[in-house]
Amino acid sequence: MEIGEPPMTKSTSSGGTGHCLCGAVRYRYEGEPVTIGLCQCDRCQRQSGSAFLIGVIFPRDAVTIEGKLATYETRLDGKNRLWRHFCPTCGSAVSITLDRYPEIRSMMGGTLDDKTKINPRFSVWSSAGQPWIRMPEGIACFEDYPEGTFGG
Ligand SMILES: [Zn+2]
Ligand SMILES: [Zn+2]
Repeated sequence: MEIGEPPMTKSTSSGGTGHCLCGAVRYRYEGEPVTIGLCQCDRCQRQSGSAFLIGVIFPRDAVTIEGKLATYETRLDGKNRLWRHFCPTCGSAVSITLDRYPEIRSMMGGTLDDKTKINPRFSVWSSAGQPWIRMPEGIACFEDYPEGTFGG
């Protein structure tokens, strides 16, 4: 950082950090997200305890995670595996990985330190969404999960 550079310029710089609620799990990402999407499916509502999950998608090797994550494995359609990684101490949802898209890693938006990075482009499973949800213009809403929206 140059001397006299105001701290606000940090939000425009590339890369950043994040952590779970208790801080036992921390991570750093290089570069910017590939894309950012919301998922309103019933499973993501249950895991997040909220109305939707915020998936901030990075290339897998752009994210370095420190600390121990617990993992809950599910199978989609009885075959494709999806792993929900969470902090075993505080329960924060931290990351999702999928065997169908091994080259990406989704970080949960609420765990980013710089929330100005979160600029959702789309929402999937709006058909399962809570009825009061109204997405702003500019967020493409899909009734289901079109192939490749998160996977790039
Ligand atoms: Zn934690
Ligand atoms: Zn979901």
